[in-house]
Amino acid sequence: MQVLKFGGTSVANAENMNKVSSIVQQALARIPQGKTIVVISALGGVTDVLLQSGGLAAAGDESYKEQLQKVEQRHLEAVKALIPVTQQSSVLSWVKQRCNEIEDICNGVFLLGELSARTKDRIVSFGELLSSKIISARLNAQGVENIWADSRELIRTDSHFGSAVVDFPVTNALCSDFFAASTGRLFIMPGFVAADGKGNTTTLGRGGSDYTAAIIAGAVNAQLLEIWTDVSGMMTADPRLVPNARILPNISYQEAMELSHFGAKVIYPPTIQPVMSKNIPVWIKNTFAPEDHGTLIENDSHKNGNNIRGISSIGKIALLSLEGSGMVGIPGFSRRLFESLANDFINVILITQGSSEHSICVGIDEALADKAKLAVDKTFAYEIETGRVEPLRIEKGLAIVALVGDNMKSHPGISGKMFGAIGRNGVNVRAIAQGSSERNISAVISAADVKKAINVLHEDFFETTYKQINLFVAGTGNVGSKLLAQLKQQQQYLQQNMRLQVRIVGMANSKKMVFSDEGIDLDNWRDHLQQGEASDLGRFVETVRSKNLRNSVFVDVTANEMVAQVYDQLLAKSISVVACNKVACSSAYAYYKKLKDLAREYNAFFLFETNVGAGLPVIGTLNDLMRSGDVVTRIQAVLSGTLNFVFNNYDGSRSFAQVVKQAQDEGYTEPDPRLDLSGTDVMRKIMILARESGERLDMEDITNNSFMPASCMVGSVEDFYKEMEKQEAHFKAIYQQAADAGKKLKFVAKFENGKASVGLQHVDAQSDFYHLYGKDNVVLFYTNRYPDQPLVVKGAGAGAEVTASGVFADIIRAAH
Ligand code: ADP
Ligand code: ASP
Ligand code: MG
Repeated sequence: MQVLKFGGTSVANAENMNKVSSIVQQALARIPQGKTIVVISALGGVTDVLLQSGGLAAAGDESYKEQLQKVEQRHLEAVKALIPVTQQSSVLSWVKQRCNEIEDICNGVFLLGELSARTKDRIVSFGELLSSKIISARLNAQGVENIWADSRELIRTDSHFGSAVVDFPVTNALCSDFFAASTGRLFIMPGFVAADGKGNTTTLGRGGSDYTAAIIAGAVNAQLLEIWTDVSGMMTADPRLVPNARILPNISYQEAMELSHFGAKVIYPPTIQPVMSKNIPVWIKNTFAPEDHGTLIENDSHKNGNNIRGISSIGKIALLSLEGSGMVGIPGFSRRLFESLANDFINVILITQGSSEHSICVGIDEALADKAKLAVDKTFAYEIETGRVEPLRIEKGLAIVALVGDNMKSHPGISGKMFGAIGRNGVNVRAIAQGSSERNISAVISAADVKKAINVLHEDFFETTYKQINLFVAGTGNVGSKLLAQLKQQQQYLQQNMRLQVRIVGMANSKKMVFSDEGIDLDNWRDHLQQGEASDLGRFVETVRSKNLRNSVFVDVTANEMVAQVYDQLLAKSISVVACNKVACSSAYAYYKKLKDLAREYNAFFLFETNVGAGLPVIGTLNDLMRSGDVVTRIQAVLSGTLNFVFNNYDGSRSFAQVVKQAQDEGYTEPDPRLDLSGTDVMRKIMILARESGERLDMEDITNNSFMPASCMVGSVEDFYKEMEKQEAHFKAIYQQAADAGKKLKFVAKFENGKASVGLQHVDAQSDFYHLYGKDNVVLFYTNRYPDQPLVVKGAGAGAEVTASGVFADIIRAAH
């Protein structure tokens, strides 16, 4: 004997029912001598509509009639499409009669204004009765003889309407007697429905048709159970949440049970029990791709090199916490808690109890939380009154994610990896449970984080292909556009060699902003941005936060103060920040410190290598020295590519203003060149280095020996150039003085003994700074380990291309 079950989508319409009919015929051919039992669900969506109609009627809303009309229409259409005209009339009239019955019941509900659980089961049972009758008639019409058998006469339950409990001894006897006595070869039966001892219709719980099939398979000792659905098997995760989920070719009964218990909807959790006890193999197959392998569920868990088999989740969970000092060491509290929940038919999904025994935490269906509170508070009324126990605490809006796998046993590090992965992505874990079978680790998290958590876990445990990085880029100017070009050029390399898939999910400049979950096409980002909405920093940040994507990195390639002020909101959501914008790190020490602390607290990266020396590894080198226990004693540096360029190119033959203009035109200056010329930019850089060395320093603490006449620094950038022309004699004098002494001019920054200063210096050929050309920077680190000969970092320290590549490197660092 074999049992096949077809789900709601498999019988959603005439076309699909046709597919079912051919699968059934092939199955029949497979066992010419044996019996084949086919269990059918309601047409997809019909169960919901029937329940809704009952609800509307009870609420006095007459629109239930329209809903029922639609149900009738769908079934009549199916009959007309599937059964030859000459044989239609009896089926059509049967369908009409059943639909009249549903309407009569709903009319009664409407008049009474009341819908009991028993009546609800009556109404909802028509879904499977109708669909199975139509399939049966269709097969008969095709000459595939079959017997329609009423599951209500074969499956006996208690009277717990809505999710009745099966009486297996009676059911098994009814089934084996019935099928043994019948000479038929093919039986069509409605899923989901059953009856209690008094003959009242009951149902087996939502999704219960799978269970019907398993009950019958167990009762008749079938050689095989096939569950035909709309996916090609049980997958590593819910494909609606994780686009990269993969089919599992084999899985053990226990694994299937755990996965379905924790939300893998593809099979109804109780389904496994009746077949497992008889060792009946279960196949999950796809009605729409019958040739696909599918999943085989059986006793053995085939090792596949991965200790985790799947990841699942259940939403709409509430956490109940029973706490109180009066619970410690006194037996019976948990018994009474669980008894009071069980008495109210509240199913417990997850349990945790700390070894301190002073709190028990239980996860249940959120819809039952208020009922649970009433029941539990009543049970512990005396203890609550006497202060030994707190009133039951309820938290809603939660979900459970679970890792499942038989081979997790005695493999250390799995939970560490799990919590590490979700922790890095800012997902807070409210409760944890691991069964002693070590087949499952589950965590209660906020419902809003489920999609992110599941995807992160799937990536970490299953995807050897790539890890996805989600970027939000603010700024598309000089550096920004170079960065986007580099990202585009490297996309393939990153995927192939580093297994990173970098997506630009959001992009903004001062005028426009645009988002795309699939990633903005880097070939046409300008067009996309142009068509975006008006830019709004607040909304941009809110969108980055609310998208709640894994491995998110915010990239600030602006020089904007407002942008620097939002980093804290991002870091606090575990979103990494990569900035070439120096404003944040050179703002008040308190804000710099706050950002560093937030990054540490929320496991995010705050990286700003390009704040000093553009793409040169200055901050990274300093961080490495510090981390390995070195102590910085002195830093001496030429940190302004702009000033270096200007003094390397100025010899009085062209005006100082012209040389500055050239530096700006070639992209070596800050957007406002006065920041460079005044020495402010160098002050910011030496301050950042001092801070990264562990010194608490603010701008006021730095001495600036500026060479710029004060008159140049007022008004607009245009005024600045004009005034510099007027002051040409001043610049010439500075140059001449140095040249006459055979020396070069360098704008040098120094940090020593907690003090920092910047200013123009004459350097001779012996100096480390003498041979410094173009826009180069150099930093000399004198430390305990480098006391005499400093550690030197030198090279091009300005320019959009090198800055962009520094930002790029930080992004990759943040990705790991
Ligand atoms: P049926 O109507 O055939 O009973 P269901 O809708 O009840 O089908 O179950 C199949 C659906 O379960 C799939 O379409 C899929 O979206 C969902 N699903 C959730 N988790 C998983 C998983 N781990 N593997 C496969 N499908 C899953
Ligand atoms: N029709 C029922 C439901 O939608 C049972 C099933 O499809 O398995 O819950
Ligand atoms: Mg189902």
